Amino acid sequence: MKMSLKFLKEWFEGEKRDFPWRKEHTPYRVWVSEVMLQQTRASVVVPYFERWMARFPTVEVLAKAPLDEVIKLWEGLGYYSRARSLHAGAQYLVEHHGGKLPDTAEELRQVKGIGPYTVGAILSFAFHKKAAAIDGNVSRVISRLFGIEEELETSLAKGKIRQKVEELLPDTEPWVIMEALIELGAQVCTRNPGCSLCPMREECVGYLTGKADLLPRKKKRAKVTYLERTVPLICHDGAYLVQRHEGKEVMAGLYEFPYFSKEEPWEAFFPGLLTLANRFPDVKHTFTRYQVTLYPTLWEASTKEEVAGFSWKTLAELLALPFSSGHRQILTHLKEAYANTTH
Ligand code: SF4
Repeated sequence: MKMSLKFLKEWFEGEKRDFPWRKEHTPYRVWVSEVMLQQTRASVVVPYFERWMARFPTVEVLAKAPLDEVIKLWEGLGYYSRARSLHAGAQYLVEHHGGKLPDTAEELRQVKGIGPYTVGAILSFAFHKKAAAIDGNVSRVISRLFGIEEELETSLAKGKIRQKVEELLPDTEPWVIMEALIELGAQVCTRNPGCSLCPMREECVGYLTGKADLLPRKKKRAKVTYLERTVPLICHDGAYLVQRHEGKEVMAGLYEFPYFSKEEPWEAFFPGLLTLANRFPDVKHTFTRYQVTLYPTLWEASTKEEVAGFSWKTLAELLALPFSSGHRQILTHLKEAYANTTH
């Protein structure tokens, strides 16, 4: 593979995309960018990364920031546990490492939210160590390069992929090859492989055996569950009822309006008199394996009753809070309706 690695390096130097996190590979910037890039396309991450670095330029600043503000800055990226982990991880680093990221795998693994891939990425890109950073892109490239036929989710396939990456990494500038493999997976060896443009095709088993687009083999996906929810926005004198999710579940720290399954009678949840004031467009959104349709309506309450688990917030307050993605779209409709009635 020596020749192919030489071509790969040349290709990477000519073709790599110009992202802000590539301008300066400090451990903190690598950590934040890699966490943002998990499950999110790089082009989407760019403005989030820039805003994050402007607001939280160091581990110390992040550790001191209120969690609500951290989640607010993350709003729209999804998978909010990543933002909560970065915040908790920063607090751990301040307490145990003087606000610096350590340079060993053992110590990095102790930091909340840093999994095997991010450990490898930080050691490789920031500390320039010979370390494997294996994400979905690298797994795809390596499965095809070496013709690995086992299902990607199996420990046998994972073990083989790790071994192949470790064997591939050269002693000289291993971090360049590591990042080049990731980039190749993102740009050329994509779901539909662009073998004719690939610098490694001469030695790629997948290409040479005509199996490139059959690899990697994967288990069938879990079924999508469809949910339908009624979302009554309860308003009194410019304030609205909202709830904040607590605990450790996927939505923890995010705000939502009251919601109920579509068949469930919900009116009794509010003790006062309600009058229908408006209907908003349906909202569809997806999280994990759920596809949810929300049916939002606006109700005027004659009195400002307290409801357990909920609080009253003005529209200006709502706009500053972190919302789940579906309810954020409803908030946008509410804001537009409000603007239309006040101008
Ligand atoms: Fe992927 Fe094709 Fe390149 Fe092989 S030759 S690494 S299958 S793009």
